[in-house]
Amino acid sequence: MIAEVIVDVLAAEVDRVFDYQAPEELGLREGDRVLVPFAGRRMEGFVLKLKERSDFEGKLKAVQQKLDPLPALTPETLELALFMAQKFHILIAESLRLFIPAEMRGGRVGRKERNAAALALPYEEAAAKLSKTARAQAEAVAYLKDRPEEDVAKLNLLFGHSAIRALLDKGILAERAKTVLRRPYESMAPAAKQITLNDQQQQAFDFIRRRPGEKFLLFGVTGSGKTEVYIRCIREALGQGKTAVMLVPEIGLTPQVLRRFRGEFSEQVAILHSGLSAGERYDEWWRLRSGEARVAVGARSAVFAPLTDIGVIIVDEQHEQSYQSESSPRYDALKVAARRAEQNGASLILGSATPLVETFWQAEQGKLHLLELSRRANQASLPPLEIVDMQQEVRRGNFGPFSQELEDALEETLASGCQAMIFLNRRGFSSSVICGDCGYVARCEHCDVSLVYHRAEELLKCHYCGARYRMLTQCPNCGGTHLTQKGLGTQRIVSELQKRFPKARILRMDNDTTSTKEAHLKITEQFFRGEADILVGTQMIAKGHDFEKVTLVGILDADQGLYMSDYRSGERTFSLICQVAGRAGRAGYPGRVLLQTHTPHHYLYRLVRDYDYKGFYRREIAVREAAQFPPFAVILRVMVQSDLEEAAVESLKGIYARLEALRQSMPEEFIYFNRMKSPVRRIKNNFRYQVLMRVRPDRAEEIEQAIYAALDQDSDRKVVKFLEINPSNLS
Ligand code: ADP
Ligand code: ZN
Repeated sequence: MIAEVIVDVLAAEVDRVFDYQAPEELGLREGDRVLVPFAGRRMEGFVLKLKERSDFEGKLKAVQQKLDPLPALTPETLELALFMAQKFHILIAESLRLFIPAEMRGGRVGRKERNAAALALPYEEAAAKLSKTARAQAEAVAYLKDRPEEDVAKLNLLFGHSAIRALLDKGILAERAKTVLRRPYESMAPAAKQITLNDQQQQAFDFIRRRPGEKFLLFGVTGSGKTEVYIRCIREALGQGKTAVMLVPEIGLTPQVLRRFRGEFSEQVAILHSGLSAGERYDEWWRLRSGEARVAVGARSAVFAPLTDIGVIIVDEQHEQSYQSESSPRYDALKVAARRAEQNGASLILGSATPLVETFWQAEQGKLHLLELSRRANQASLPPLEIVDMQQEVRRGNFGPFSQELEDALEETLASGCQAMIFLNRRGFSSSVICGDCGYVARCEHCDVSLVYHRAEELLKCHYCGARYRMLTQCPNCGGTHLTQKGLGTQRIVSELQKRFPKARILRMDNDTTSTKEAHLKITEQFFRGEADILVGTQMIAKGHDFEKVTLVGILDADQGLYMSDYRSGERTFSLICQVAGRAGRAGYPGRVLLQTHTPHHYLYRLVRDYDYKGFYRREIAVREAAQFPPFAVILRVMVQSDLEEAAVESLKGIYARLEALRQSMPEEFIYFNRMKSPVRRIKNNFRYQVLMRVRPDRAEEIEQAIYAALDQDSDRKVVKFLEINPSNLS
């Protein structure tokens, strides 16, 4: 037998199959991870295919070892990996890597074993063998009388190491190694709920159930009970002996959601996300692979879950940016999910209160079924949203971050013992530090962006590359000492709130406070248990949380996202405000949302006030059609980056010429075509140039592949070049 092996190295030159002899005794299967001799070393690789003959027979080296008891990839995930490599132009080795826990490579994580001990003899016999003076030994034997076994570590702790050692030596106790599963969130109590679907939910569920293998957009306002519909669909799949995948934005993996799924599916559900320890991830992954768990819940990468015969794939909050991988390897988890659903004949359910404009349009075109949940599930109504004119506040002499209305509302909320959330999409203390004398702005040495002041640490930080600098006391340009801070950050808001409400207990949630594992869950839990009165945060607080006692949501500085050059900024602002507002008044208590803005008459706020997604959509889609933006066009951006500016410019020239030739060959397909410096010219000392294109959707795939080919022709290793498709960030 011959094995076609992809060696696990990320290099384009060797990213193809190599033939190896497959020794009979290894019992190799397609999808197995193996060790092979390669370029004088032992390397890991994946068996893509087994075959009878090779053109190189006689000269072949043999596979040395099989690494796992079961093939890590199944025929279906192998096919998906190859599809992704082609579609997103990533190396096959890189694509295959996505399908296994990172630490499995190089054997950095494996099964965890613990020693357990049990009585080796019937109790009476064991007791008779003990000497009269050995009290601890007798106690240990008595302890084990009614137990099948116990961890040796625990026995040592209870009865002393020497007693247990003696019992083992005498053969009264027998020891054995057992595999222990590392379970994430073990301490979390599962929440079993008996919920009867309401009419809208039932209709949606029935509709989906009757059309297995089709695609659906579940468009349901926040709190409409989409999760319950998902749960029914998953149950349905399990009932048919199939499996299920549910993707949630990383930040949406809240304790409530996890509890709910544990309560519903107990051991059947496995959780996959980056907050887990390597060991937990490994064990959860194997539980899925071995068929012990049949529901995978997780962030983006759960789309690669090692399941077979999937009945339903759900993407919750499908509008979330986090489903796009925007660093290498670049891919779109929505597209992967769609492909995987097709391969399995599974139903695909995309859920959102504010779907991507493109997805809603596809639903209108009949590409997926549109299902609507227009009411909140638990009788609560959507909280009234009031627009507060901050210009008016300025005229009244209030230059602070809070309007009078918001201060009053906060006071009231605190007095009544309820909770408030304050949303601001900027972490740190201020957005920039400016010299009042000469206008100097503190900037990063490695990036063309200004630095953000973080007061807790007295540091200036670069939010692009993470560089840290000491806070300035003097302007490095003119020596002046009138340094002022512009813009508000979450830290600043907390300190301003503390000044006004000294007794309030305030929590902050942003990238700075959630860098450690599970910190995000900890803060959410704390707030959920009522251990704080106000939660201040960035968009992290917008997603999925179901806090019952939150009656007030304050949105500061709503305008921030609105005037960005990005075509999706309107859509994103609308969605963010709806999500944040949706946190208020979810249980019986009435909620209230105050949105502060300097442009109160902007059409977007009028629509958002009525939670009028469809109104927003109709306006937005008309603009996009007129201006020829997605879904009526595809935006393609070729990035060319290097720490040597001349090298980047040189590569850009060559690439541009090739793309220009491509355009000439199909001029009617190109709507826009230009090369330029990127808006942020330098990040982490890399100079950034780009070719920006907009093309018609019909032949976009073909153009994408032609662009990849054009990029491959540039061989300058010092230059990084890649293609972004409808990038969500054009900086
Ligand atoms: P969504 O995901 O649409 O924002 P959730 O699924 O989180 O909404 O549901 C919001 C709340 O409503 C949850 O507390 C949930 O338990 C509750 N809920 C959902 N469906 C029902 C129902 N049919 N009857 C009563 N409560 C429900
Ligand atoms: Zn920087």
